[in-house]
Amino acid sequence: MTVDTASFFTRALHAGRDRETASSRATPIYLTAGFEFDDFDHAAHHFGTGDGFGYTRTGNPTIRAVERQLAALESGADAVLVASGQAAVAVALLTVAGAGDHIVSSAHIYEGTRGLLVDNLARLGIETTFIDDIGDPDAWRAAIRPTTRALFAESIANARNDILDIAGVAVIGDEHAVPLIVDNTLGTPYLVRPLEHGASIVVHSASKFLAGHGSVLGGVVVDDGRFDADRAGHNAPHLVLPGRGGLPSVAARHGGLARIAYARESVAPRFGASPSPLNAFLIGQGAETLGLRVERQSRNALDVARWLEAHDAVESVDYAGLESHSDHALAQRYLGGGHGSIFTFTLRGGLEAARDVVESVSVFTHMTHIGDVRSLVLHPATTSHAYRTQEERDALGIRPGTLRVSIGIEDVDDLIADLSRALATVWEKVA
Ligand SMILES: *Cc1c(COP(=O)(O)O)cnc(C)c1O
Repeated sequence: MTVDTASFFTRALHAGRDRETASSRATPIYLTAGFEFDDFDHAAHHFGTGDGFGYTRTGNPTIRAVERQLAALESGADAVLVASGQAAVAVALLTVAGAGDHIVSSAHIYEGTRGLLVDNLARLGIETTFIDDIGDPDAWRAAIRPTTRALFAESIANARNDILDIAGVAVIGDEHAVPLIVDNTLGTPYLVRPLEHGASIVVHSASKFLAGHGSVLGGVVVDDGRFDADRAGHNAPHLVLPGRGGLPSVAARHGGLARIAYARESVAPRFGASPSPLNAFLIGQGAETLGLRVERQSRNALDVARWLEAHDAVESVDYAGLESHSDHALAQRYLGGGHGSIFTFTLRGGLEAARDVVESVSVFTHMTHIGDVRSLVLHPATTSHAYRTQEERDALGIRPGTLRVSIGIEDVDDLIADLSRALATVWEKVA
């Protein structure tokens, strides 16, 4: 009997199956939980070596293609795609740290990452020291302990637009054979590639600029492939000691790629934040136009920031593209092709003015997201940072009148006209 002559339910499942391969120019979407083995030995080989594809949580051709694409954009050796930016940060940190270990992190990081460090990783026995003045090399140096397993920071940080001196901090990590992990979500590989400046690992929320259209969540961990077992093995026993059942160590099997191999084999699939192949496709398609979007978004953002800086209703604008910003020189050194499109500005009228602006804009969308093709606005003090104290918010540059914007690819005149209408209302009240 063949499946074509079987009964109805069986035919519905098995008849007419097409196993032809074709050279699709776009990345094909392998929307499948798993892959059929050619024969008995093929299955055993896959389980024994990890080669090829067996089950989508451990590998999928669509996801693999996007991992290679994003690794290439970040000048990395390899990458692991996961279901969200939070998952990428968690996977990167759990790849290098375990119970009893320590992380030194910038204090100017995404609130979700901070929560992961202070709530979740702390409960797993991983302690974090936060650095406020990330431009002070001595602050980083002084925080490092014998148990430190990672330095963590964002290339461009919210809300003050602090720019990380990547090379400066990477060198300090190097002195102790500790990798620098950079969250490059706001920087994007179009503007800055931290691995080229000495960072060891880059993470992204691919939900933002990489996917770019605000339709999917995703995250990626990119590694430089330069793990050195001789120099850094004492900080990474899980990479240099033999595995369970006498398996050769990860470093013995993967050399410089030991960290990313461990993330792929042992961390990402076990904690299970696997991306959907469909979402992977959308991230890969988005990344094809990353440069075009970020170039235009950066240009629009600079025009909007300059216009805001000159407006009477505005007290300050924190955008590293402006000459007035304290990190402008660092931005000139590290960023090429623009300064990104996410920044904050503070209204003289405080909370009420912020409320009025948020409720008057019509081209800007009021929502908690960034890196979208559309322009977005949010009031951090009452949303993302509502659970911090006012002193903590002050230290982070978030005041009652502060608004965060993520500038999109619209015609910039329409963005300025939208803000102009909204600011005219609040300025009338103040003046
Ligand atoms: C959004 C964001 C994250 C978290 O990413 P998700 O995709 O929302 O899980 C991490 N870091 C930064 C800088 C972000 O902006």
